[in-house]
Amino acid sequence: MSTPPLSEASRTEHDAPLAPLTTLRVGGPARTLVRAATTDDLVAAVRAADAAGEDLLLVSGGSNLVISDAGFPGTVVQVATRGIEVEDAGDGRVRVRAAAGEPWDAFVAHAVQNGWSGIEALSGIPGCVGSTPIQNVGAYGQDVSQTVESVRVLDRETGEVQEMSAAECAFAYRDSLFKRTQKGSTGRYVVLAVTFLLEATDRSQPVGYAALAQGLGVEMGERVALADAREAVLAQRRQRGMVWDADDHDTWSCGSFFTNPIITAAQMDEVRAHVVERFGPTAPEPPEFPAGDGMVKTSAAWLIDKAGYGKGYAMPGPAALSTKHPLAITNRGSATAADVAALAREVRLGVEEAFGVRLVNEPVFVGHQL
Ligand SMILES: Cc1cc2nc3c(=O)[nH]c(=O)nc-3n(C[C@H](O)[C@H](O)[C@H](O)COP(=O)(O)OP(=O)(O)OC[C@H]3O[C@@H](n4cnc5c(N)ncnc54)[C@H](O)[C@@H]3O)c2cc1C
Repeated sequence: MSTPPLSEASRTEHDAPLAPLTTLRVGGPARTLVRAATTDDLVAAVRAADAAGEDLLLVSGGSNLVISDAGFPGTVVQVATRGIEVEDAGDGRVRVRAAAGEPWDAFVAHAVQNGWSGIEALSGIPGCVGSTPIQNVGAYGQDVSQTVESVRVLDRETGEVQEMSAAECAFAYRDSLFKRTQKGSTGRYVVLAVTFLLEATDRSQPVGYAALAQGLGVEMGERVALADAREAVLAQRRQRGMVWDADDHDTWSCGSFFTNPIITAAQMDEVRAHVVERFGPTAPEPPEFPAGDGMVKTSAAWLIDKAGYGKGYAMPGPAALSTKHPLAITNRGSATAADVAALAREVRLGVEEAFGVRLVNEPVFVGHQL
């Protein structure tokens, strides 16, 4: 199968550095890098790589990727598609479809400006629209499963483009069908566009996160002006180094490096016992939230901190925990992917030895493993 020519804004390079395409700024080169600026080019580039039996990696904002120092010995397709379409969905709602390569935070800002409510608590998250369904991106009491109506995908197994309903995406905490159907380094499904169903109002959705409610000076469940919700989220994220900034090494990360463990009530009892063993009768209470089906969710940041890996652990680096948040592994400027992985392993082992819980990484490892 011959590769169709790319449109003008798209391009192909060889032996192209990948670190600058990621927020962690680590990883070796791609043998071939195709920048796809239109959906047709994106589909064509993926089909061509698959037809040639090439290993394929999709990179959008690069904010959830830890690419190995050896780089990627196949084709990397950078998703750089643009476009937003809006229609009235009736019942005071709007249907907004965004191309996969639209920068996520600019999309949220656009929604807030236009009075579309439902994604305001996801302000300040780096990356692109098309990656948000992959791990069901979430923060401050919202996640995209609450507003995604459907996802347009290229199914690499059938070669067909299809629309998947939210139910078919099987969203769960930081998880979806997309994450569970890996094919090589990238998923079976390539997200081409995402359709959100948002409420047409200048009020936020009910505030669903205690620290955010506190920052806004309201009770949980209250609604505030959309712009106020966005600003409050951005302020809290900046304090925690969770808004990417080239000048701030605390943000050269993948955000949270580990997901919050979801464990059984019996395992939670064991965690509590370990905490008492470690800190004595006045031990602090580990955080605990109901997670359905008799399961509980505890806090990875809390476990890491209490296992002895506080903010700034391993400073000055080259890889260290953020000085603003113990859950972010950061590159202080000269870290390699191996440095990041070594620190992640140390933290994971330390938490397991202290509390008997094995943390699971949130970012995707490419070409190496944790
Ligand atoms: C400072 C900081 C803060 C963060 N805060 C949060 C947070 O609050 N909540 C949260 O959930 N996440 C957070 N993250 C993680 C990250 O921003 C999100 O997971 C984001 O959605 C990743 O988007 P991306 O475009 O950068 O994806 P990439 O890193 O480019 O890709 C991630 C994965 O998705 C695949 N992929 C990319 N594009 C597509 C596509 N079009 N179709 C199919 N697969 C694709 C890639 O191959 C890879 O496996 C944070 C990261 C940073 C650096």
